[in-house]
Amino acid sequence: MTREYSNLIGGELRPAADGRTLDSVDPATGEVWAAVPRSGAEDAEAAVAAARAAFPAWSSLPAAARAHHLRKVAGVFAEHARELAELETRDNGRIISETAKRDLPGMTYLWNNAAAECAAATEGRSVDFGPSSQGVTRREPYGVTLGIIPWNSPISTLSAKAAFALAAGNTVIIKPAEQATASSLRVGELLREVLPPGVLNIVSGLGEEAGDPLVRHRGVNKISLTGSVQTARIITRASAEALKPLALELGGKSPNIVFADADLDKAAPGVTTQAIFTANAGQICYGGSRVLVQRPVYAEMIERMRTIAAGIRLGDPLSPATTMGPIVSREQYERVTSYLEIGAKEGAELVFGGRFGPEVVDDPGFAGGYWVEPTLFATEDNSLRVCQEEIFGPVAVVLPFDTEEEAVAIANDSSYGLAAGVWTRDLGTAQRMFRNLETGTVWVNTFRKVLFPLEGTKDSGYGHDSLLAYTREKAGIFEF
Ligand code: NAD
Repeated sequence: MTREYSNLIGGELRPAADGRTLDSVDPATGEVWAAVPRSGAEDAEAAVAAARAAFPAWSSLPAAARAHHLRKVAGVFAEHARELAELETRDNGRIISETAKRDLPGMTYLWNNAAAECAAATEGRSVDFGPSSQGVTRREPYGVTLGIIPWNSPISTLSAKAAFALAAGNTVIIKPAEQATASSLRVGELLREVLPPGVLNIVSGLGEEAGDPLVRHRGVNKISLTGSVQTARIITRASAEALKPLALELGGKSPNIVFADADLDKAAPGVTTQAIFTANAGQICYGGSRVLVQRPVYAEMIERMRTIAAGIRLGDPLSPATTMGPIVSREQYERVTSYLEIGAKEGAELVFGGRFGPEVVDDPGFAGGYWVEPTLFATEDNSLRVCQEEIFGPVAVVLPFDTEEEAVAIANDSSYGLAAGVWTRDLGTAQRMFRNLETGTVWVNTFRKVLFPLEGTKDSGYGHDSLLAYTREKAGIFEF
């Protein structure tokens, strides 16, 4: 039996206005397990009206009162952590050891953090322009903000877009991704109990049907998209008429650079598991899917990566023993597997992996799911499509380099610029790489997202979700 979920609009749980639904498919089995609203323009209109109606009261609450609400939200995430982790795992296949141990505990922290920042959202500046001329600024919310989120980590992306926008006094509409919607709608059911009506609205459906009318709506004042470059271009054009401020958190092809002096005991698992393969089966925007290794340790790193990959277990995402889950949808599975062929045709050497389908999952109960085994290609040619294009699956490529300058050149030879990893014991190398890599984030001897800006350069977009990003500075000049 399938479970039905509803939109959250104006504090009410509602089906789509015309009653249409979309099937939610469990990527580990290929079976339909839930139905979510297939919303359209009428639902978008209702959500904007609700968010606009809630804005005056919410934005004029004292910061302490807003913080109080957000701490209650943090409490909901703590209380329902296990349930939400299991739901997210079912919804998009991200393994339970990631959702239960990392993602959900992180949400309680994130919402509490946003609560603590509420007061800072109202802080302005005071500047003297002369004995009788004073300039003051105040930070104001935009009004209604729209968060459009992808399927790979819905609860944390929803939280990043809602928590700081709400802390700053905006009201919020979230448009989840059609491939994994249920966990966001369950969050809506729970938060309805602790937030005033209309302050947070969640509208599910397809991008062109539910997302587009929200993007174009004059009642939406700022848009934050986490998604693909292609969607970013569509949204940029659609919102251009109204000159809406945008934040675009897009894709990546992050270089993960291992120098010969690195601690390989740390670098090998860091590169293999955290950065590429087990982290959401490589479906991660900042995933270090281009591994650059300095030649003296190239062969050894490959052997270490091979050993770690051989120990990765694909299976029931809800089992704690599983270390890698499925690809989120059939469409994405076909896209990822097409790159296995592309890599082979381009002449990249297959180092390990390359198999996909029911044969790579242990348990026959999951044969209908979308499985791809951890795969590594090797090449010296960074212009290959497997080196340049975001695959968004457990498929990485390794390239050797000789000098630091060469590593920088290969790393920067990419249309993306989201993040980079650097593994070295030399502080000077680390500092130069930090300066010279054209990415928004550089991790040194780690590759782990924390509550810190993750802003892209180039085709990885611009802007990010933080308290200040959800306010604008208004200036007043007073002369008496
Ligand atoms: P996508 O661009 O296909 O979809 C993202 C969202 O945009 C979905 O909710 C979708 O319904 C919506 N959308 C699509 N067309 C729209 C339209 N015309 N108007 C309004 N909304 C529309 O991306 P995806 O496949 O869900 O996610 C994968 C992509 O997201 C990858 O490129 C990945 O790198 C990126 N991503 C980036 C980050 C980051 O922080 N930079 C994090 C996670 C994922």
